[in-house]
Amino acid sequence: MRYLILSDIHSNLEALEKSLNLAGGRYDQILCLGDLVGYGPDPNAVISRIRPLAGVMVRGNHDKACCGLMDTEEFNFLARAATDWTRTRLTPENAEFLRGLPSGPVQVNGIELVHGSPVDEDEYVFDTLEADRVFRAAGAPLVFFGHSHRQGGFLLAGDVPARPLPLPAIKDNEPAGLDLQPGVRYLINPGSIGQPRDGDWRSAFAIFDSDRNRVDFYRTPYDLAATQEKMRGEGLPEPLIARLEVGR
Ligand code: ZN
Repeated sequence: MRYLILSDIHSNLEALEKSLNLAGGRYDQILCLGDLVGYGPDPNAVISRIRPLAGVMVRGNHDKACCGLMDTEEFNFLARAATDWTRTRLTPENAEFLRGLPSGPVQVNGIELVHGSPVDEDEYVFDTLEADRVFRAAGAPLVFFGHSHRQGGFLLAGDVPARPLPLPAIKDNEPAGLDLQPGVRYLINPGSIGQPRDGDWRSAFAIFDSDRNRVDFYRTPYDLAATQEKMRGEGLPEPLIARLEVGR
């Protein structure tokens, strides 16, 4: 089975379409790690597009905030402004859909899916210390997570501390493969579709082939200018528009 793993789409329709287009024919099922909405200009169109495609989804913190399940006290003022804007735009049906999304962890064929971490759906896993703690709480040897918007992740082999995943340089539109080793535990982030923060503006995703036990990471350029123009047209905050082109 080949799973297309998407995370942190953040209402970026151009990035989502480009990634789906590139991934077309290379996967059997879509798994989505949350944050469909928030920040970007197309919350309803993104939900309409991904809803019929994704076999399994977990919710993200922005999904919760935008549908009113969570307040925005812990958000910075830019995230709060984008959340307020999204709340005014979401159709009642789409808000209801977001309210019904499950919290992680969700298990699919022995893989664990979470937005933040298996410990806490809203927790960030940025470094190996955090990864070490999270590995102990994981319910499966292979966990896919999002939330940090950084493609890559961590591995745990034997009694030594967790290490960052060795990620090769990733060319436009070409898979960069990682063969998973037996007996090793993995926390893998496919990267963010709609708002990468790993210093690379290109849309990011991954495909996990469970038969070959291999993860292919992808990056693909998308029509960034179109997304930015829509955001300006909607009066979304300028720093959120500018950050897209630097991937931070
Ligand atoms: Zn996010």
